[in-house]
Amino acid sequence: MSKPKVALYWCASCGGCEEAVVDLAEDLLEVVEAVDIVFWPVALDFKKKDVQAMKDGEIALTFINGAIRTGEQKEMVELLRRKSGLVIAFGSCAHLGGIPGLGNFYDRESAFERAYLTSPSTVNPEGVLPVTEADVDGFELTLPEFWNTVHTLDQVIDVDYYLPGCAPPADLLMEAITAVLTGNLPEKGAVLAPAKSLCDSCPRSDSKPLKISISKLKRPHEVEPDPEKCFLEEGLICLGVSTRSGCGERCINVNMPCRGCFGPMDGVLDAGAKAVSAIASILELEDEENATEEDILELLRPIADPAGLFYMYSLPSSLLRRSQ
Ligand code: SF4
Ligand code: SF4
Repeated sequence: MSKPKVALYWCASCGGCEEAVVDLAEDLLEVVEAVDIVFWPVALDFKKKDVQAMKDGEIALTFINGAIRTGEQKEMVELLRRKSGLVIAFGSCAHLGGIPGLGNFYDRESAFERAYLTSPSTVNPEGVLPVTEADVDGFELTLPEFWNTVHTLDQVIDVDYYLPGCAPPADLLMEAITAVLTGNLPEKGAVLAPAKSLCDSCPRSDSKPLKISISKLKRPHEVEPDPEKCFLEEGLICLGVSTRSGCGERCINVNMPCRGCFGPMDGVLDAGAKAVSAIASILELEDEENATEEDILELLRPIADPAGLFYMYSLPSSLLRRSQ
């Protein structure tokens, strides 16, 4: 009997999700035994034409990581969608826009200006910028269009499931593959991770008081947090309160507060707004009755980059989507 075909592809991402596949370690041998990997450009020498030659729906499952920002990425994910029975948005960037999604605080022109003209390491005296078509020594050179806006995968193609995380942990990846192989799949559109918040599984949750109030915020470099204590108790913003669990508390275990890469819980429309509301509800001015606007600004001053903090992984999926 032929094995189910599986494809993996990356778009606007750092490559960490590809490494998450390698993190399967010896389980990868089990996966390779059970499925036929038919496309994985980062690791195997299959070509686009190999995918084009397949029948529609022939690939049982495709994992796509990375956000979508170029014409080439759009073309490839549309092709893979056509050829695949199931598509899983793999990792924060495909799921919510991720770190590349922070590009939506800028436009294409300013991104090009910074990358190709003004960054300290750039030497470009003629001010050459990328174009989609150029004549080079009599040959026509084409490059994919770089979009003004970064998109999540489901803003470009239909997505069946989401595997969250930056990068998704190996155990959730293995569970997802097993679910597909056994046909034991949840409802379409599900996020393949626990439904509760990170605080629910956090080893520090016992030290999280029922009623927290923070009257002085601190930044991570200003304190060495007590490894037993909830970060909020120490005045450090931890987005575990509004973030889905399932990551294995990776940041918490290295004494860093959560930054929300697993995205929000079910039913939340805007992860950043939810995080703002969760943190705002525990901030407290020392003398609330007589507080001035300056006192409020003083309390918030340690949040050096509020939009970047609360929308670190989710700007393209937010109601704002981009800054202008
Ligand atoms: S706020 Fe952060 S440190 Fe505190 S219990 Fe939740 S995840 Fe853990
Ligand atoms: S602690 Fe938060 S930011 Fe860190 S891996 Fe887990 S969900 Fe992601």
